[in-house]
Amino acid sequence: LTTVEHDRNVWRAHQWHAAPLLAGTAAPQPALTVDNPAVPADTPGQVRFASSADVETALSAATPWAADRATRAAVLNRAADLFEANYGELFALISREAGKSLPDAIAELREAVDFLRYYAANAPEAAPVGTFTCISPWNFPLAIFTGQVSAALATGNAVLAKPAEQTPLIAFRAVQLMLEAGVPATALQLLPGAGDVGAALTSDARVGGVAFTGSTETALKIRSAMAKHMAPGAPLIAETGGLNAMIVDSTALPEQAVQAVIESAFQSAGQRCSALRCLYVQEDIAPNLQKMLIGAMNTLTVGNPWDISTDVGPVIDEEAQSGIQTYIEAARAEGRVLHQLDTPSEGTFAQPTLLRVGSIKEMEREIFGPVLHLATFKAGELDQVIADINGTGYGLTFGLQTRIDDRVQHVTEAVHAGNIYVNRNQIGAIVGSQPFGGEGLSGTGPKAGGPNYLTRFTKRHAPA
Ligand code: ADP
Repeated sequence: LTTVEHDRNVWRAHQWHAAPLLAGTAAPQPALTVDNPAVPADTPGQVRFASSADVETALSAATPWAADRATRAAVLNRAADLFEANYGELFALISREAGKSLPDAIAELREAVDFLRYYAANAPEAAPVGTFTCISPWNFPLAIFTGQVSAALATGNAVLAKPAEQTPLIAFRAVQLMLEAGVPATALQLLPGAGDVGAALTSDARVGGVAFTGSTETALKIRSAMAKHMAPGAPLIAETGGLNAMIVDSTALPEQAVQAVIESAFQSAGQRCSALRCLYVQEDIAPNLQKMLIGAMNTLTVGNPWDISTDVGPVIDEEAQSGIQTYIEAARAEGRVLHQLDTPSEGTFAQPTLLRVGSIKEMEREIFGPVLHLATFKAGELDQVIADINGTGYGLTFGLQTRIDDRVQHVTEAVHAGNIYVNRNQIGAIVGSQPFGGEGLSGTGPKAGGPNYLTRFTKRHAPA
């Protein structure tokens, strides 16, 4: 922690700059200000978004990475070394640009390094699709960005990377480090910008495939743009939203269940695709469990992610904040707010909130913030609850807390979800050992960080 303390003091006032990184072209000067969601007075840097001329330049310069397998692996491992050597700068940047707590930012940096090393170790002999567009979200601005880009590079593709508009700085530094490690400039170009840049990069015949993580809505737009403009069969690797549930029956260990619930629902201010949204508790233990949950919520510190004691930081921006606020106010008007925490008055914070809900069927969409819904079920209603969870059409994460062995088998077979967590925390992924990905509306598979992920970035061989 001493090193972390030292580094965060060093990087507190640093200014970063981001701009398109295009092969053979000087970067234009940064123009827009990037915000720190927790501290309005702090601006971590500036960015210049890509113009349509930049997109054209990048598309025509893109050239698949012709190096052999061993060279690609060595370069990606060198990039991992550079990420580690610059860890203080990177975690500080994640925290200031995305509002993530320091432990979350450090965990994210580790995950990015793991992706680089895992895909380096599994890089195949080249059979690249050609040029891959990688479009990433702001909630894991380094890990998901690096995961997509390194998978496409490990398989020898040229990459056009479009990070989320809220988090261009960390993506810029990541690309600089990958270029420094030896990725050719024609194989990795960065195009910061909003949805229009993403749209331009997914509707051009020169692009051979797309990796996308973000909302289901945007994934559907990309799918139709690709169908119109790109070669038939061009791969779309999509990781999208979820409406994640957990079932806690009356045999569960209450302390274990409460800890799993609190971490999953409120870490990263609920801005994880894996986060628990709807908790089903068996009726006979519900009053007690609700009290324990409220007690555990009260121990959370909501505040500036720079403070080492902070558990819950801000949400990403004002639009997210006001959307969550409107949703909570509607629930309050219906008398469904069970508990709520206060937040700092400055910065785009959302109040961690526990809401009562009759069933997951009442939740039409994912609220991407620190809002947990509590529903109850009776002993005979378990199969109905499972049907309702499956009925959402999503299938990303699911949690179960029970001490009945038969029930573990029955429920985990019946629930459609990419990642299932039994009697433990319902949190994300571990590269290599616990790949992450969803079913149905939540994604296209195969899972990131797993053995089959890279094959989607290669040309499929026609059957002999
Ligand atoms: P979120 O709710 O996480 O912001 P989005 O799906 O809006 O989810 O954004 C995820 C990524 O998709 C971002 O990088 C965003 O700029 C990009 N994006 C948004 N609209 C489009 C589009 N029409 N085509 C391609 N990319 C897009």
